[in-house]
Amino acid sequence: MKSELENPIMGQKYTPRLFIKAVSYRIPLPVRKIIVYGDNTAYPLCPRCESAIEREYVFFCDQCGQKLNWDLFEYAKVVRPGSKRK
Ligand SMILES: [Zn+2]
Repeated sequence: MKSELENPIMGQKYTPRLFIKAVSYRIPLPVRKIIVYGDNTAYPLCPRCESAIEREYVFFCDQCGQKLNWDLFEYAKVVRPGSKRK
């Protein structure tokens, strides 16, 4: 698949590091956290950038483009704002 490696991504040529990064965004990461705010609104959290995802079961994070896997969502851990950082 040499030709695929030579395809530019966002105007840049692939370097091995960039290639790994680009591929990793396309491998689904499971959504494992739900953030619950004080007014009891709850949002899934992106497993990569930890931003709130406004809609459930979207295929990609709209902030970072990470592909999402919802298989484990029913086991997701509830977090509160401010508790996600140590
Ligand atoms: Zn994200």
